[in-house]
Amino acid sequence: MGKPTGFMEYTRELPGDRDPLTRIKDWEEFHFHLKEEELRLQGARCMDCGIPYCHTGLMINGMAAGCPVNNLIPEWNDLVYRGLWREALDRLHKTNNFPEFTGRVCPAPCEGSCTVGLNGDPVTIKGIEQQIIDKGFSEGWVLPEPPLTRTGKRVAIVGSGPAGLAAAAQLNKAGHDVTVYERADRVGGLLMYGIPNMKLDKQKVVQRRVDLLAAEGVKFVTNTEIGKDKPANTLMAENDAVVLAGGATKPRDLPIEGRDLKGVHFAMEFLKANTKSLLDSNHKDGGYINAEGKDVIVIGGGDTGTDCVGTSLRHKCNSVTQFEIMAQPSIGRAANNPWPQFPRVYKLDYGQEEAKAMYGSDPRVYTIVTKKFVGDENGHIKELHTVEVEWKKDDNGRFGPVEIAGTEKVWPAQLVLLAMGFLGPEETVLADLNVERDERSNAKAAEGQYTTSVKGVFAAGDMRRGQSLVVWAINEGRGAAREVDRYLMGHTNLP
Ligand SMILES: Cc1cc2nc3c(=O)[nH]c(=O)nc-3n(C[C@H](O)[C@H](O)[C@H](O)COP(=O)(O)OP(=O)(O)OC[C@H]3O[C@@H](n4cnc5c(N)ncnc54)[C@H](O)[C@@H]3O)c2cc1C
Ligand code: SF4
Repeated sequence: MGKPTGFMEYTRELPGDRDPLTRIKDWEEFHFHLKEEELRLQGARCMDCGIPYCHTGLMINGMAAGCPVNNLIPEWNDLVYRGLWREALDRLHKTNNFPEFTGRVCPAPCEGSCTVGLNGDPVTIKGIEQQIIDKGFSEGWVLPEPPLTRTGKRVAIVGSGPAGLAAAAQLNKAGHDVTVYERADRVGGLLMYGIPNMKLDKQKVVQRRVDLLAAEGVKFVTNTEIGKDKPANTLMAENDAVVLAGGATKPRDLPIEGRDLKGVHFAMEFLKANTKSLLDSNHKDGGYINAEGKDVIVIGGGDTGTDCVGTSLRHKCNSVTQFEIMAQPSIGRAANNPWPQFPRVYKLDYGQEEAKAMYGSDPRVYTIVTKKFVGDENGHIKELHTVEVEWKKDDNGRFGPVEIAGTEKVWPAQLVLLAMGFLGPEETVLADLNVERDERSNAKAAEGQYTTSVKGVFAAGDMRRGQSLVVWAINEGRGAAREVDRYLMGHTNLP
């Protein structure tokens, strides 16, 4: 468990990021690595705490506390401290098929529940995870491991996001013939066409893992939408089991006056086209929504909104503002958000840090709602009308936003991006296969079982749990694979 006194001897160090004003000139990743000697000391900070929460993945107060894939964190912290990198990599891959993704994009609920963080700074778990796997790749330790025997059973997976990929990796490992269907032209789901390149490199990181899976025997069929290009029932006829991992891609809209104006887009239209054009032609084909020279307003203060801010800055927008309906979180933990819960605290994410470096302040405006969009004579967005709100309890004791008279404001904008979350999965495949849905319109399948109302059809990831996190999608893909294996073979050795 690291060095028992390490947490008293060494302070938390992060590798730092590339300078914000430099990194917005390109699309490269922005995190540095610590030197190996420095990282060993960070591993040493893991104390022998007896009952660690960091690896539990417990849901407390509606949010994950600890690692949802149950990474064996104290074990690999200790191995890194002792310089046993190869062993650390083996321990990491036991629980996480894709640590190079989570080490880059996970919000790290593990660190929020680290015992050192109870009255100090938590161990830098996420950075250690990333460096273990990055070293594994650079040392040539991560190689294709095709199964020694095949079972002759065939499994189709719909969707190639982290849930589909994790299910494919595990089912292939168990010897089944796995085919992943993806409607996009590239594999990876939101790893490829949601999270931007500067946060997760598409060619060097995402495609590298996809190539590895292909070398292990997983078949990928792109440009094929199940339910449109290939009927869903043929999947059932051609396979022994089907895993639905199509994500929760239905965006929340803002149906107010002026919504139809040109220049008002869903965030995913903006982000997907940007990455596709970047990968296809380094933006030379012009096939993206360009924020250059525009005043951009992003509606929605979450991760998707942050990615829109970072992307707009790289386009050289004139200004960027991010609206958030909720109040600004507190700087430290609030009394009702104690350790080991995920800390709901104010943080400057990469996009806001870049905007602050560029324009001098955090681009987020809190407790604000948009009342209408107003266009110019060409039907193009020209301005937004807003009002401030305060959060109050109504007569039934429920909190809601109440408008504050006299706080109306007009904002110039030539590009508006709606990043207000997602409402659930699209209907086609679920309807075609007659899969029952839950009250939130997700595919109905119990957590831990992943079995839908249709025999032989399983569901995992955002399609089952609603829009969530990469780490949960990996957890669900692994769990669904285990249950598919049990269904096909009558028993399973998959974790
Ligand atoms: C912009 C953005 C940024 C995010 N940033 C982060 C982050 O930093 N960290 C984090 O942990 N999480 C982040 N998330 C959330 C995370 O990306 C998702 O929770 C995760 O990708 C869900 O994985 P999934 O495999 O369930 O679905 P997805 O990744 O959505 O993949 C589903 C795939 O299925 C395909 N598909 C759907 N229907 C069909 C069909 N009928 N036929 C064939 N293919 C189909 C889709 O094209 C898609 O490629 C972000 C989400 C967004 C939108
Ligand atoms: S996957 Fe996320 S929660 Fe788990 S160890 Fe890595 S950063 Fe922490």
